[in-house]
Amino acid sequence: MAEKIDGKLISQQIKDELKEKVAALAAEGKTCALAVIQVGNDPASSVYVGNKKKTCAYIGIESIAYELPEETSEQELLDIIDKLNKDPKVNGILCQLPLPSHINEDHVIHAISPEKDVDGFHPRNVGALVIGEKGFVSCTPAGIIQLLKRSNIEIAGKHCVVIGRSNIVGKPMALLMLRENATVTICHSRTQNLKEICKEADILIVAIGKPKFINADYVKEGAVVIDVGIHRNEDNKLCGDVDFDSVEPKASYITPVPGGVGPMTIAMLMNNCVEAFMD
Ligand code: NAD
Repeated sequence: MAEKIDGKLISQQIKDELKEKVAALAAEGKTCALAVIQVGNDPASSVYVGNKKKTCAYIGIESIAYELPEETSEQELLDIIDKLNKDPKVNGILCQLPLPSHINEDHVIHAISPEKDVDGFHPRNVGALVIGEKGFVSCTPAGIIQLLKRSNIEIAGKHCVVIGRSNIVGKPMALLMLRENATVTICHSRTQNLKEICKEADILIVAIGKPKFINADYVKEGAVVIDVGIHRNEDNKLCGDVDFDSVEPKASYITPVPGGVGPMTIAMLMNNCVEAFMD
């Protein structure tokens, strides 16, 4: 039976550590602010944005909300970002994705100053990760490193298989595991013999975006299994990319959905905000 990695507990520890740091800075008269931009009112985005604002309040970070109408033009959005880039009171800028289809997401990602890019999506931050320089790291992969480290799971020298090569999860995840000295294999939609490759993993990180895709047949006895996926099943219950009931008896550690990787993303976003502030 695998040990469950408790993302709720670990994310709470991180948030409490950040709260202390922010309180110490506030005592010196220094306040930290995050600008949160939402364009349109996609219900899922509204939930994410609401959670981000709530977590900011808990930690003591000021959140400055921009709730823009669906019909906001790309130029209007870029003008707001430009203003926030220049505002010394704003430490971090976050633009909730996805954006309405008439706005080019790449233009927006490029427009946010790399020094305030707390999502870690700007090419300069991605490049810094590739060459091992300091920069903001995409929050979900950064959270997974924290889950592994705070569960005392050794990474160096282990074979890590990452399924998925998205810019937000798969690619930065693979680079972070490389930085932690794992031997890394990246699998994707064109990979052949996926099952055989996964079965060689000491640490299997699944970001494939397909509910319950990975079952016990893909997992080596005693492997660590990290499930990034979030889906709603037929009964409207949350599930991941991993078939938890099938894999759990075979793994040594596993993240549940919900309560595994999910809560770490916001915790690491807050961590990036505090880092932006301290630089
Ligand atoms: P994505 O759709 O951009 O990428 C999926 C990746 O899986 C692609 O790179 C693709 O090549 C690969 N893939 C698809 N089918 C495959 C197959 N049959 N075999 C091997 N590889 C295959 O998704 P994403 O944005 O990287 O997100 C992945 C999952 O993680 C989604 O379920 C998403 O909802 C979830 N997610 C969770 C969090 C969180 O905070 N927990 C954050 C981001 C994404």
